Amino acid sequence: MSDSVRNLIIIGSGPSGYTAAVYAARANLEPLVFEGSVTAGGALMNTTDVENFPGFPDGIMGPELMDKLRAQAERFGAELITDDVTSVDLTGDIKTVSLADGTTYSAHAVVLAMGSGYRKLEVEGEDRLSGHGVSWCATCDGFFFREQNIVVVGGGDSALEEATFLTRFASKVTMVHRRDQLRGSKIMQDRAFANDKIAFEWNAEVAELHGEDKLDGITLRDTVTGELRRIDATGLFIAIGHDPRSELLKGQVELDDEGYVLVKDGSTATNLPGVFAAGDLVDHTYRQAITAAGTGCAASLDAERYLADLE
Ligand code: FAD
Repeated sequence: MSDSVRNLIIIGSGPSGYTAAVYAARANLEPLVFEGSVTAGGALMNTTDVENFPGFPDGIMGPELMDKLRAQAERFGAELITDDVTSVDLTGDIKTVSLADGTTYSAHAVVLAMGSGYRKLEVEGEDRLSGHGVSWCATCDGFFFREQNIVVVGGGDSALEEATFLTRFASKVTMVHRRDQLRGSKIMQDRAFANDKIAFEWNAEVAELHGEDKLDGITLRDTVTGELRRIDATGLFIAIGHDPRSELLKGQVELDDEGYVLVKDGSTATNLPGVFAAGDLVDHTYRQAITAAGTGCAASLDAERYLADLE
């Protein structure tokens, strides 16, 4: 067990975790932040230009934005540990979090800000071309694909929404789906079918991505015959869902059917007193850096009020 009981522990170092840390540190709560080991800095560490975070009229590179948020949290006294929390006990008045080496830290309040992971296709070229033609977020990156041939993979409402949105920029959008019919709602399907910029590749899956520094083609595999075929595309949007990083919380914090943390309406409070949650760990809908930062701020303010009431 490491020293005394702290005020606040924050788990996660994306826009929600660091923003919670800035607010908590400025409120003299001396927060302890677990940043994670491999993905410290969160989802934006894997991208290039971020053009929609307010305050940066010329855009900013994702890693630079996260470095600035980190520095801002440190400036006000947040303590940062670049390691993964491997288990938690959040049910009592004193919450404990532990690392793989057995070290345990305790606090009166905890902010959960572990984000969620985009599901990957797990095909050759996907990691190399991420941010260089391959994207998981049309709202974030659609603007970079004006007058290009774009492929969207997926068959649910998110994929349909991304495809329809991308027709604002692309010359053509091709939806690639493993089956011969979509899963999305009828209204979203009707909208996509009526859009003459959207074409469909049925019974198809992505087998390989081509291009060294930039995506320049995609090999599709027919899911019925197994036949391979290369198509031209300079953009690929993967819309096959995301997985909230809530494994640690099972059996303690209330989660919805998909594993997102449930919070009380209009706040960041979970079912457990003193435990608050923010960012993409909670959010099915908006999933933007600014919305994650906004709920991170709210979680810190909620934690501050909770701690004040304990005194
Ligand atoms: P994340 O950013 O996912 O951060 C979660 C953090 O939790 C990580 O630091 C991780 O290390 C840590 N963590 C997880 N588990 C543990 C654990 N057990 N112990 C310790 N730490 C842990 N949004 C925009 O607004 N504009 C864009 O241009 C944009 N581009 C994007 C490009 C890409 C490629 C991706 C993937 C996303 C993009 N987004 C963009 C979305 C945006 O990045 C996310 O909405 C945002 O990062 C969510 O913030 P978060 O703090 O909730 O979670």
